[in-house]
Amino acid sequence: MSKVDRAVIVVFDGLRPDRIAGLMPNLEAFAQESLWFTEARSVFPSMTRVATTSFATGDWPARHGIVNNAFHRPQIVKGEPLDTSNFDHLARLKAAEEAVVTTTSLGQALARAGLRMGAVHCGSAGSAYLVNHEVASNGQWTFSVHGEAATQTPEAVREAIARCGPLPGHAVPKYETLSYAARAFSEMALGPDGPDVALMWLPEPDTTYHQFGIGSAQAQAVTRAADDVFGMVLEQVAKHDGRTAVIAMSDHGQITTTFQTDITAEMQAAGLPASHRPDDTHRLALTRGNMGEVRSLDGDHGLIDAACAWLMSRDDIGMVFARDDIADSLPGTLPMSLVNQGHPRAPELFFLMRASDAPDGHGVKGTCGLIAGVPLGGGMHGGLNRYELKTTLIMRTPGGRQGKDPCPAALVDIAPTVCDLLDVPFEATGRILPLFEPDKATVGTETLSTGCGAFRQVLHRIHVGNSVLIDHGGRAPETGPLPAV
Ligand SMILES: [Zn+2]
Repeated sequence: MSKVDRAVIVVFDGLRPDRIAGLMPNLEAFAQESLWFTEARSVFPSMTRVATTSFATGDWPARHGIVNNAFHRPQIVKGEPLDTSNFDHLARLKAAEEAVVTTTSLGQALARAGLRMGAVHCGSAGSAYLVNHEVASNGQWTFSVHGEAATQTPEAVREAIARCGPLPGHAVPKYETLSYAARAFSEMALGPDGPDVALMWLPEPDTTYHQFGIGSAQAQAVTRAADDVFGMVLEQVAKHDGRTAVIAMSDHGQITTTFQTDITAEMQAAGLPASHRPDDTHRLALTRGNMGEVRSLDGDHGLIDAACAWLMSRDDIGMVFARDDIADSLPGTLPMSLVNQGHPRAPELFFLMRASDAPDGHGVKGTCGLIAGVPLGGGMHGGLNRYELKTTLIMRTPGGRQGKDPCPAALVDIAPTVCDLLDVPFEATGRILPLFEPDKATVGTETLSTGCGAFRQVLHRIHVGNSVLIDHGGRAPETGPLPAV
């Protein structure tokens, strides 16, 4: 017999575990009767769609193929990166390569076992796609707040509109979206006929962290509102008989942007033909955020060597990873397999803007440089700072353990754990988390460092049994002030 009858998963996008206390009374009370994995970690890049896919497949980007939020694939999307938030870009990727995601998902495993998954997804349309990438052929449903045309199962959007009214607007902070998510989840997923795995993805506090800052009054208020939604979910779950596992989680954290560099312009000024919008003369393709890829669209190794040396010559760059087949020829880089990257879609280089554990003006720890994407002073994520990688992961299982558990856990462990609870076979790299008995796996840490000239970088990893998690990493020294603007 399965250990539970169903699982309810609530994702608070971007929620830092150190931003719960005093702001989320429902989640704090829930944690008292649950098992809180205090050392849970995201993936690299700590970007939403990479994280979503890692959660959904129980596997790392090296295997699932969503190597970044945006990555260049000029044979599919020309002149700009393939943007994984864009439903149409993912549809084109599927048409060209047959698979958007190159491993099996939780939704597929459940479908094979005759179980249902339903998701009320209020993040980007692409993230809704990736949370159950074969949802339609699985006979399951995902609702996306972006409407019928941006949803693989448009009937779920029609049903939500029929039962809950017109879709909400997208003003930030997303109060309207939160209350719509609460209604739709309650109506479509939490009733007695709800799916075996019911997932709700809330876009907050991520959006408000980005726009107004992690420690802002707006972020605090919207965090409280997200907690109210969680309180409603717990009330609904309590109404029904049966054994329900409830999981509260986030996909990554965020840190505060304190300086900005236009990497494209600076590279061009240094004579490199770089652009995030490549064309016939700019064949070195970049992406933006607080980390990015560098990809030679012509396979020109000389250009990659020059870009790599340029990155390491700068004070505002934090880390540089190279594809394993070229890392040896690029002294100072770390091979990207160390951060579970290296899918055939991966670029030659990933670079990170410099980050620090130092606090921002609100006293919130973790700051970094920004290339582009949010107002300066807003929150960002993507890199390997500890406050980007630390995630919220709290699981309440009937008959399960309670308390805080420092046993390291990864996003990729959640789907295998849910499948184990429901007695569903699932092949994935992630491991089954110790919900009932304390973990017997050996835990070890590992520090890797390398450098070139004045550039030195450090990566900390955690070994748990046969799994390797990314703890954090950065430019050495990892603390202290960031470069002045
Ligand atoms: Zn996210």
